[in-house]
Amino acid sequence: MNAISSDAGLAEPHLAEVLAAVGLDVEYVRAEGNTLYRLDEQQREAPVLDFVGGFGSLILGHNHPEIVTYAQDLLRSQLPIHAQFSRAAHADRLASALNSVLRRELGDDERYFAIFANSGAEAVEAAVKHAEFDRSLKLAALSEQIDAHVTQARSLVQGGLAVPADSAYARLDEAGPSGDPVQDLEELIAHVERWNAERLSTPPLFLAPEGAFHGKLVGSVQLTHNEAFRTPFKALAAQARFVPLDQPEAIRKTIDAERRVLLDLAVTDGAVTVVEREFPVFCAFVLEPIQGEGGINMVTREFAEAVRSACDAIGCPVVVDEIQSGMGRSGAFLASSLIGLRGDYYTLAKSLGGGVAKTSVVLIRESRYRREFELVHSSTFAKDGFSSLVALKVLELLEADGGRLYRVVAERGRSLRTMLETVRADFPDVLKDVRGAGLMLGVEFQDQSGSTAGAVRDFARSGFLGYAVAGYLLRRHAVRLFPTGSAANTLRLEPSVALTDDEISQLEAALRDVCSVLRDQDEGRFVGA
Ligand code: PMP
Repeated sequence: MNAISSDAGLAEPHLAEVLAAVGLDVEYVRAEGNTLYRLDEQQREAPVLDFVGGFGSLILGHNHPEIVTYAQDLLRSQLPIHAQFSRAAHADRLASALNSVLRRELGDDERYFAIFANSGAEAVEAAVKHAEFDRSLKLAALSEQIDAHVTQARSLVQGGLAVPADSAYARLDEAGPSGDPVQDLEELIAHVERWNAERLSTPPLFLAPEGAFHGKLVGSVQLTHNEAFRTPFKALAAQARFVPLDQPEAIRKTIDAERRVLLDLAVTDGAVTVVEREFPVFCAFVLEPIQGEGGINMVTREFAEAVRSACDAIGCPVVVDEIQSGMGRSGAFLASSLIGLRGDYYTLAKSLGGGVAKTSVVLIRESRYRREFELVHSSTFAKDGFSSLVALKVLELLEADGGRLYRVVAERGRSLRTMLETVRADFPDVLKDVRGAGLMLGVEFQDQSGSTAGAVRDFARSGFLGYAVAGYLLRRHAVRLFPTGSAANTLRLEPSVALTDDEISQLEAALRDVCSVLRDQDEGRFVGA
């Protein structure tokens, strides 16, 4: 009996075909530092220089020796990995270590409580769920207050101590859904209750910048701007309103356009009046300080300030998604600290697991934290002993020698960027822009949809040019790069902190070559083997 089938091509075969079409369907057999190894025709290892860096999960590189040794030791020691609902001492130590780093970088003493998860999107969903839990508890408290005011008004009117003001009826005639004039207090109350019930049953809204990427799960994909990812699943979750990153003033306008109120009753000087109470329409503003999948777009200090002040004005929490930009990648632990953006929530994932574990976390500011959330949210795998200890080890490496690693990231990033700027200066007709911070850089190609090389033009028009360029660089130069998820004309560079000058030179030669091919519109070379 052969219980295990040998059918090949069952794991996402369509994606495999798409990768194969541009020569990216390579199997790697070993990895270390910034190098992946494939087997050549003679079954010998052939190195490929990796600038994809696990989509940002490898700030320490592939199989960092200290992380690997530590992980091996943990497994050998028979560490309890899955001991759910016991004292999570390792996760607690990790939360404490993360707090120390945040305190140092943000210069603020407020504590952040940690909810652990397994992937980036899951941490975003935990953040969003917590924000909605908070909003719903605030709404429940507001509804209770309104109910108490209604009861009080009713008993005062019944006792002859108050009468509904004419203005109250007038307000309701304007605002009331029925259109019939309101005659007495009970009708007034019925109107208020109907009005409020309608608003209370509407789903919340989120705010996010255009270009945002926060994951592809049911909730998080609605915060991801890319329409191809988002719109087929619109019916499944609450919606976001997207604001352009270069228009900070659009934030307030968007908030004002969605403003809604609940109605309440107030009794002053024996008169019952209808008053408005602000309805918290927005559950959270979610943003990346440096957009990764959106094309390596930096959030400006001015935009960050506008987010903070607009959100403070309506009591809406700011969720700073540092899943790709955090863990030292920008040259600081949090990229948001470079632009003075202060979050109420922070999400971390990717490099938190040191390239070995899958783990993520949402950190929530104490003054916003709802402890009851812990009893309604959990995951079998979150907060496991192995991932928590590996993540602690990662933090230890990042923070060693007074944060030497952050300085190295910044310095390596400068060298890489200088090289990219030089190539761009020589090929301004091919390379449009170089952006980013630290080791999170993007190179945007000029639009090639008018190229006389048919294949280049076709790739450009179908949005695949970035992947075709990636295929070329891999085939010809053994350099691995990918475009960002939602901006296919921008190649993303996220190598590890171990990036060497030789590796930068290898990339330079590869980029200069592909730029020449595109400039010369040399189709034969571009698509040739
Ligand atoms: N947020 C950001 C900023 C990301 O870059 C990503 C992944 N690219 C995610 C969330 C989702 O993370 P994951 O793929 O682990 O679900």
